[in-house]
This record gives sequence, C-alpha cells and structure tokens, in this order.
Amino acid sequence: MSLDQYLSKQPQLAQVLNYEPIFWINDHYHGVDQANQVSQYSVADVKDAEDRLARFAPFIADRFPDTQANNGLIESYISKTDQFKAYLEDKYDTQIKGDYYLKRDDDLPIAGTIKARGAIYEVLKHAEDMALEAGLLTGYDDDYRKFASDDFQNFFKDYEIVVGTTGNLGISSGVMGAALGFSVTIHMSEEAKQWKKDFLRSHGIQVVEHKTNFTEAVNQGRAASDADPKSYFVDDEHSVNLFLGYTVAGSRLKQQLDEAGIVVDADHPLFVFNPCGIGGSPGGICFGLKQIFGDHVHCFFAQPTHMPSMLLGVMTEKYAGISVTDAGLDAKTNMDGLAVPRTSGFVAELMHNYFNGGITITEEDQKELLTAMIDTENIPLEPAALAGTPGPAMLFATEAGQAYLDKYDLRDKMDQATHIAWATGGSMVPADEMQAFYDEGKDLVAK
Ligand SMILES: *Cc1c(COP(=O)(O)O)cnc(C)c1O
Repeated sequence: MSLDQYLSKQPQLAQVLNYEPIFWINDHYHGVDQANQVSQYSVADVKDAEDRLARFAPFIADRFPDTQANNGLIESYISKTDQFKAYLEDKYDTQIKGDYYLKRDDDLPIAGTIKARGAIYEVLKHAEDMALEAGLLTGYDDDYRKFASDDFQNFFKDYEIVVGTTGNLGISSGVMGAALGFSVTIHMSEEAKQWKKDFLRSHGIQVVEHKTNFTEAVNQGRAASDADPKSYFVDDEHSVNLFLGYTVAGSRLKQQLDEAGIVVDADHPLFVFNPCGIGGSPGGICFGLKQIFGDHVHCFFAQPTHMPSMLLGVMTEKYAGISVTDAGLDAKTNMDGLAVPRTSGFVAELMHNYFNGGITITEEDQKELLTAMIDTENIPLEPAALAGTPGPAMLFATEAGQAYLDKYDLRDKMDQATHIAWATGGSMVPADEMQAFYDEGKDLVAK
C-alpha cells in the first residue's frame, strides 16, 4: 500500500506527515486478554526477569551503594507535580482531571536513565548464562556476590560486550558490563552527546564514533561484534531480553502506588505516557503494566513530531518496514534518546495489540516544557524525558483525547484518575548542558 492509501484508513497520518502534534487512538487494541492470547510472551517471562534481578540484587547492592536503600533493586520513585500540572492546564487551556505524577527514572541508580532497566538486565542475563555454562555458578541458588570476585572478573575479562546507541544504552550496559569485568565497546551515532562519550571513556569503555544515524551505528556495531565469537552484541532493535528487563517496572509501580494509597481499578483509571525511541522501554513497561492492571491501565507512547517511528510503524502496520525518512520526514530532533528513525519490528508488532495509543510532541513544546519543569518543580530532565509530559493535557484538550474518554466510557471517572508521565532521564546531564537546555526554552515559557 502507498502512503496515500494509508491516508484514507488513518486520516491523522496527514498531520503526522506535516509535523503536527497528535493524540492517536490505537483501534487495534481489543483488551489485554485478547492481546495475551496471541502474544509469544507471558507473565511467566516477566516473573523470570524479576527472579533474575532478585538473584543479582546482593551483588548490585555491594557494587553500587546508591542501590542499597532498595536492597540492590534498580528502581525510582514517583513525584506528584501539581505546579507543572497547573502549567500544562494553562498552556493547553484545559483542566486535567485526576492526579499528575512523574515516574522518576531520571534519577534511577547506576545510570540515571530508563535504559538502566533493560540494558542492565540484558548484561546480567548474559553474564549469568556464561557463568552457569562455565560452571562458575553452581545454580540459581548460588551466592551471586561471587560476580565481584577475582575468579569471575578474570573470566569475563576475555569477553566483550558491544553496543550500538544514541548514548544512553551505552552508559547503562557499559557501566554494568565493566562492573562484571567485561571489555566493553560502544558504537555511537551522530546524535550522541560529547559528555556521554567522555563519561564512557572515563570508565575505561571504548567508544567508536560514527557520523551516521542510529540505524547505521547499530548495524556497524552488530557487524563488528558478529565477527568475533567472544563478543556479545546488545541489540537495541531485536533484543527480547532488553524488552523483558523493562517489563518488571509493572509490579514495581504497583507496589509504589499501593504504598501511596493510590487505587487502580475500573473506577480509578491509570494513564501512563512513555517516551518512545526504538520502542523497547515503552513497550516493555506497558506489557508489564498490562499484566498487572489489565484494561484499567491506559498506555500511550510519546514521540517527537520529527521522529514518529513507532507511530508510523503501527499506523501503516509496516512496523520496522517503514522509516520516518521513507515518509519524507527530516528525522531531526533535539530529543536524542528518541532519535530512532525506524522502530523495532518485534516490539511494534507485539505492542500493536497492547498500546492504547500514542502522542507526538513538537521540538518547541519539548524545549518549553523542559524549562517549565525546572521553573515549576525544580526537576531537570533531559529533552527526551519531556516527550510524555503533555499527554494528560492532550487527553483533555484534543478531539481525539475526548473521543478516547468516550470510547472507554471514562468521563465520569476522571476525577479519580491517576496520570503518570515517565521521566526517562536527566540526572546525569552535566550542569552546563542543562543550563543551555534551560536557556533555550526560556523565551518559550509563557510569562
Ligand atoms: C532510549 C530512551 C527512551 C526510549 O526508549 P526506547 O526503548 O528506545 O523506546 C526514552 N528516554 C530516554 C532518555 C532514552 O534514553
């Protein structure tokens, strides 16, 4: 089918091709039960990932003191951000019914971005597989603090971990890979920030710089790794383990909401807005949340208007078969963590059955909201982390958002709703970079 033919099926595609921000409803979603019936992954896979992270927790707590408060679990907290909510209401000239929270992955231990969930899980899984095969670990009930021992470190030293990334995936996998003793090489795309390269090199991690986009950097990293049998490639586009690492966020969030006395059920809907690059983190988190909260959680992915790779993939059902440049878009965005022109095929196809919808955000709005977030809440987020923040306002301020509330008969329940915008990164950004981001948005902030 040509783009013109898709336009008649998905009229909002015209706005997507015109760089206009939209609220998109996924009509392919027919409830969690139906999605689970055709899914190749299940709640058992989520449980397996949770168990693995629990086995490694004593090692992680020893090695990374900032995880000790959480007994070696890499987890963030939630913040209620009423002032920022008020800012959104003003900007979008609407009332956001329900409470508004940020999920603070900007402050995650070890790596300070959402990638710490998936990437660290994948590296740990690989190390566990190797240690079991080599007989270094006797079984799952062994003491995983052994991973810090000389025997283990010397063993892993001969093996390599390779990553292709816009930056953040490299930091998370690099730091954990190095902590386990692996030699680590990170292939970085053109968007990668200098400070991320500097940070990695200061941790003894090798950085290969590419003057090409994400897809090309990944391809080159994969080719280099495939040529070496002792090398393992963390594949952002195709990795199931990366995806599964993200899914454990579901039960973790449930526990936090319980502790805060926040109810999620048919009368108390939960809305979650996740920034989306390749799709692994928003997909995995949505998958995990759906297994816990069923149809009472409403999951939306959020992308730049210049980089709507997941949106195009699911709207056209071409998934990884279409890139934003195929659609004539320029693929230029300030939101470097989301600078992915082509979505992950397996994630997009799977999640087409689970996502409730998606939103897009302009570059200008991202810059304004970054500055507003600091002005109102004193929370410095990196550009990508702002993508989901206007979601709750767009739910009320757009026609499609209103149609969504009608579709699921939610209008009279919204006073009891909870909105969560996933803040996916920020705490690692150097102060001078953050100041420059702040200054850029200052003129845009409503006086
Ligand atoms: C990678 C990234 C995302 C998106 O995750 P994907 O798995 O690529 O969809 C969002 N925010 C930040 C800060 C990221 O680094």
